[in-house]
Amino acid sequence: MSTFLGLPAAPRGVGHLRGDDPFPVAARKALGDAQLRRNLAKATTTIRAKRARVVAELPDWEELREAGKSIKARTLAGLDGYLEQLEREFTAHGGTVHWARDATEANQIVTSLVAATGATEAVKVKSIVTDEIGLNDALAQAGIRAVETDLAELIVQLGHDWPSHILVPAIHRNRAEIRDIFLREMPDVDPDLTDVPATLAEAARLHLRRKFLAARVAISGANFAVAETGTLCVVESEGNGRMCLTLPETLITVMGIEKVVPTWADLGVFLQLLPRSSTGERMNPYTSMWTGVTPGDGPRQVHLVLLDNGRTAALADEVGRPALACIRCSACLNVCPVYERVGGHAYGSVYPGPIGAILSPMLTGVEDNASLPYASSLCGACYDVCPVKIDIPSILVHLRARHVETAREASKVPTAEAMVMAAAGWAMSNPVRFAAAQRGGQLGRLLGRRGVIGRLPPPLRGWTQSRDVPVPPAQTFRQWWHRERGRADERP
Ligand code: SF4
Repeated sequence: MSTFLGLPAAPRGVGHLRGDDPFPVAARKALGDAQLRRNLAKATTTIRAKRARVVAELPDWEELREAGKSIKARTLAGLDGYLEQLEREFTAHGGTVHWARDATEANQIVTSLVAATGATEAVKVKSIVTDEIGLNDALAQAGIRAVETDLAELIVQLGHDWPSHILVPAIHRNRAEIRDIFLREMPDVDPDLTDVPATLAEAARLHLRRKFLAARVAISGANFAVAETGTLCVVESEGNGRMCLTLPETLITVMGIEKVVPTWADLGVFLQLLPRSSTGERMNPYTSMWTGVTPGDGPRQVHLVLLDNGRTAALADEVGRPALACIRCSACLNVCPVYERVGGHAYGSVYPGPIGAILSPMLTGVEDNASLPYASSLCGACYDVCPVKIDIPSILVHLRARHVETAREASKVPTAEAMVMAAAGWAMSNPVRFAAAQRGGQLGRLLGRRGVIGRLPPPLRGWTQSRDVPVPPAQTFRQWWHRERGRADERP
C-alpha cells in the first residue's frame, strides 16, 4: 500500500480536478454571478454565526483544539502501525479490508464488490472521498447507478452538477432552483411542488425512502476509524446515513488512510470538535458506529477500502503534512473572504476553500493544481477557526515556494518575476545603486493618477491588474533622512 508499510510508493492522487480553468479564470467568472454571491453570503454568514455561538459556550475550546492537533500529529507519525491495527481488528470482527493505492484501484475494488452482489443500484452516504476518486462515473460505466442520499448531494446529483462546499454541497443553489431540479428529475414528484423548504424536504424523503427500502448495497465514507477496536464512524444530520449503514445486505466503506484515530478516547475529542465547527451544533443528530459484522443485525458483508491516492506522498512533506489532519468540518470555508465571493466551483477541485487550496495540490502534486495555493489573501482566518489548528497560511506559502522552485528548475528561460527579483537584488545590494534606483522609481509619479498607478505593461501587468500601486512619494526616505539629519547636525 505505501512506503511505510514496506510496499511500493503510492502514486500521486488522481481524480481531483473538476474544472478546466485555473483558479483566477474560474474565479473571475464566478464573481460575475450575483445570485451565487448572494447565496454564498447568506449561507456562510449564518453558519459562521452559529459556529461562533456554540464554540463560545465551551471554556476549554482552545484546549480541545490543542488536543485534536496533538492526537492527529501522533497518529500521522505512527500511521502505518495504526492502520495495521485497524485492519486486524476490523477483520477479526468479520469485515474485509482492501488497500487501494489510487483512484483506479479503489474504483475497481468497489465496482467488483457491487457487481458480485448482482445489484445494479447502490445507495451512498457521506463520501467526499468517493467524489475524489470519481466513483459514481466508474460505477456507471459498469452499469451500476449510485444514488446519493444526503439531501444536498441528491440535489447536486439530480442537477448534473458538482458540490461547491464540503458540508453544504448545494450551497450555490437557492430553493427555487432546487424545486426546478426536483420537478425535472424526480419522475414521481408532485407536479404542484412549491419551493417551501419543508415541501422540498418531504419530496426528497419520499423519493429516498423508496431507494433505501430497495437497496441491497450501500457505499459510505467514514469520518473516523478507531484502530484499537476496528470501529468505523459516520456523523450526519439527516438519518440517511443510519438507513444506508443498517438496511442493505452489503456495506462498502471507502476511507482515506488519514482518518484513523488510535483510541476511543481520541474519538471523543473529535466528536466534540466536529459538530460545533461544522454545523454549529453542540452534537450532530446521528452518530453511527459499526465494528465488522454483528450477527442478526445490519449488513452481512462489510468491506473497508483504505485509500492512499497521494496521501503517503503528502505525509512525506514535513511542512504540508498537517493538512492530513483535516476533519472536513468546513469551518475554514465559511470564514474565507475568497471562498465567500467565488464559491467552491472556482477551485476546480473536489476539496474547495482554504483546505482545498492546500490539500488538493498536495494529493495531486503541486503542478496539477498550481493556481490553488495562490487562491488566498493569507489573512489567517482559516487558521483561527480550524478545530485541529492546521496552519493553512504557512502551508500555502510553502506550496507557493515549491511551485516557484519547480517552475525555475523546469524553465530554461528565467521568468519575468525571476528577472525583476534578480534586478531588485542587484540594486538593493549596493547603497549607491539602491539610491539611484529609488530616484529612478520616483519617475513613477508621472504614471500616477489620483495617488495610484493603474495597469502597467508586461512584465508588471500581472501584479498591477488586480492591485492599485500607490505613486511613489515626492521624496525618498533617504532624501528625507539627509535633510533632517542635515538640520540636526546644524543645531548647536
Ligand atoms: S482545515 Fe481545519 S477548518 Fe478547514 S475543513 Fe479541515 S479541519 Fe475544518
